[in-house]
Amino acid sequence: MSTPALKIYNTLTRTKEEFRPIDPAHVRMYVCGPTVYDYAHIGNARPLIVFDVLFRLLRHLYGAEHVTYVRNITDVDDKINARAFERGISIRELTEETNKVFQQDVTALGCLEPTVQPRATEHIAQMVAIIERLIASGHAYAADGHVLFDVPSMPTYGRLSRRSLDEMMAGARVDVAPYKRGDMDFVLWKPSKANEPGWDSPWGRGRPGWHIECSAMSWAHLGETFDIHGGGIDLVFPHHENEIAQSCCAFGQDVMANYWMHNGFLQVEGEKMSKSLGNFVTIHELLHTEKFGGREWLGPVLRLTMLRTHYRQPIDWTVKALEEAEAKLTYWMTVMDFSVAPLGSDGRIADQPPRSDEVPSTYMEALSDDLNTPLAMQILDRAFSEARTDRVLSIMLGLSGIDLNAFREGRNARDQAFFEKHGGEEATEEFVDRLVSERLAARASKNWAESDRIRDELAAMGIALKDNKDGTTSWEVKR
Ligand code: AMP
Ligand code: ZN
Repeated sequence: MSTPALKIYNTLTRTKEEFRPIDPAHVRMYVCGPTVYDYAHIGNARPLIVFDVLFRLLRHLYGAEHVTYVRNITDVDDKINARAFERGISIRELTEETNKVFQQDVTALGCLEPTVQPRATEHIAQMVAIIERLIASGHAYAADGHVLFDVPSMPTYGRLSRRSLDEMMAGARVDVAPYKRGDMDFVLWKPSKANEPGWDSPWGRGRPGWHIECSAMSWAHLGETFDIHGGGIDLVFPHHENEIAQSCCAFGQDVMANYWMHNGFLQVEGEKMSKSLGNFVTIHELLHTEKFGGREWLGPVLRLTMLRTHYRQPIDWTVKALEEAEAKLTYWMTVMDFSVAPLGSDGRIADQPPRSDEVPSTYMEALSDDLNTPLAMQILDRAFSEARTDRVLSIMLGLSGIDLNAFREGRNARDQAFFEKHGGEEATEEFVDRLVSERLAARASKNWAESDRIRDELAAMGIALKDNKDGTTSWEVKR
């Protein structure tokens, strides 16, 4: 059976194109990562999950060792300086703390670690080198301790966002500054005051602008041109447009990356997420507090909720959608036999990698069609009701990064905590009834291992089950 060709919607051409890597033995992807000044919100989780699915798919298609995925950490930025000052801690303390929580969040969301997570502060030399090239080739100029990119020097500027210079100037809020030659010129380097982070450079002590960071880090780890560049749709202009300008002009290339992919925006219960509307929610809060919908949510629930909408569509983040995803996972959990050794987190094991004919072709076709995850999730659901082998189900789950084991363990821990907190027969009735009906569902799909596990879990809490002749199960609290 042949593997379907991967098709990707390319923002550069506004069409869905067949993906052809520059070098199939080394597929290269760059995704703009977080600015580590505050916890990541649930909108930020979208590109993390979307490009993780793509990473898994590329590894499956080209071989895990032939794919490099770079997701940077922006650890120098004026928002960071301001927040560290506000909190009275050092910049380093703030970025370390924020990055630590970020890494915990992405792990809980089931994302594989990218091949490299470069930090901006460790690539200042490359930024300076690019800026020097831009000045030498007449695309940038130094003025007043600043270095600016000379936008009119690049005839193709605006190609990604498809705007002309005139349109940009009419639409944008341009910072007027005496050292700027043209209104659209943007900062590559700026001077730092004594209390601001800074590095020595040919233009004095200063720090980089935001856009140059990504040009430098992608160059350092992927080269002058690479295959895929991703991020949220809000980054198309000016961030990605400026990255292209810097990299193409510095390296004398026509393209920076061949395929530009952008995820749509996330809104919460029909409204833009904002602190003033009170609907702003972080990944951390969803996982560890009862802020959203009055309860904590497990990482696989957040992930499945995200995948049930196509990545280019806007997504409405609602309690109802989370509940639906949780119900799906609960059903899948009752079908899955967890005593079968699970495959690796990306659906492969070293000595038994999945053969392409083991994955239902419709599933591969859906994922390969510009990551049609909503369709893939329907096919996955069908595979559970058709009771495919546990190995096939594991491979399918692995390709989407849905960790059913983590879901089951997370639920058990949550149930246990609930039981301990509420104690007493009255409060536990609903909870025990739920486990009993899950056990019945497991038995209905002949999943004896899971059914026994639930019986044991209840027994450990002092609850005995009795299976009646009419197919029902009753329970009592042992004294
Ligand atoms: P930022 O920290 O704002 O640079 O965002 C990090 C990533 O999250 C970028 O790829 C953004 O495009 C993306 N992003 C930010 N807000 C949202 C949102 N509400 N919905 C979807 N993606 C978002
Ligand atoms: Zn970037």
